[in-house]
Amino acid sequence: MKIGFIGLGNMGAPMAANLAAAGHDVTGFDMADVTVSGVTMAGSGAEAASGRDVVITMLPNGDILRAVAAEILPAMDKGAALVDCSTVDVDSARTVAEQAETAGMLFVDAPVSGGVGGAEAGTLTFMAGGSEDAFAKAAPLFEIMGQKAVHCGEAGAGQAAKICNNMILGATMIVTCEAFALADKLGLDRSKMFDVVSTSSGQSWSMNTYCPAPGVGPTSPSDNGYTPGFAAELMLKDLRLSQQAAESADADTPLGQAAMALYEQFVEREDGNGKDFSAMLPRFADRSRS
Ligand code: NAD
Repeated sequence: MKIGFIGLGNMGAPMAANLAAAGHDVTGFDMADVTVSGVTMAGSGAEAASGRDVVITMLPNGDILRAVAAEILPAMDKGAALVDCSTVDVDSARTVAEQAETAGMLFVDAPVSGGVGGAEAGTLTFMAGGSEDAFAKAAPLFEIMGQKAVHCGEAGAGQAAKICNNMILGATMIVTCEAFALADKLGLDRSKMFDVVSTSSGQSWSMNTYCPAPGVGPTSPSDNGYTPGFAAELMLKDLRLSQQAAESADADTPLGQAAMALYEQFVEREDGNGKDFSAMLPRFADRSRS
């Protein structure tokens, strides 16, 4: 397939490289001066999108997606597919979907889970929204870049699934860290706490797979000085998107809101910026109740 790839940052670059390595003809564009193995660089987004069967975007946020879509949709062929893999707000995904469909293009919102490691290894999970035709066109590419793709529903459904998942993750990580800090103060050994909780009803991905306590459970960013992994500021971004969506859908999400406020405090007023999101554990361990 002829593929355009716009946004070749930490995630986009290895995803584009995997598509090129699988034999696809990939033309890329990024505002920054980057080179990616196997990818021909274009001078603009429109040039990267023109004459392509599928154009993939992997951009920082919804405003940038809207701006890039306004530039590239007029350059794309009718019947081509725009596949946005960025994590953006549901409203931006739906707006760009409408614009693409009006212009005679297919659209899929397909945010990912799995981080930079998953992008490099080609083991991402894609959660996709869009028509059956649009999903079918993108599916072979998801197979190269990832290990699983779930078609969640119409346009916007992929972003909805992503922010609901990450709202659960953020709140669960916080309470797992709180519980370790409480266990410390109660004199309970962290490895005993892990042995019990990881096989009891308190278990979760945060505890079992990504344990925030160094030296306990499988290797995780806590064993590497809380170098991300999944940075606290990216968790804050996703929690903000979840609350923006909750606001516009009139959904009551008190724990999601509290999780957003805590990550906001950690990233913007404490020392959480640049640390893994599981670094909430030393934060709680160093504090007292008031
Ligand atoms: P990044 O900042 O490394 O990459 C974004 C790239 O987009 C940059 O290279 C930037 O130069 C480029 N860009 C910005 N504006 C542009 C424009 N107008 N035209 C062309 N290029 C432009 O970010 P990332 O970590 O690769 O994340 C990309 C998306 O994936 C985000 O939406 C993020 O939330 C999501 N995501 C990231 C992770 C992760 O672990 N990093 C995990 C899951 C999802």
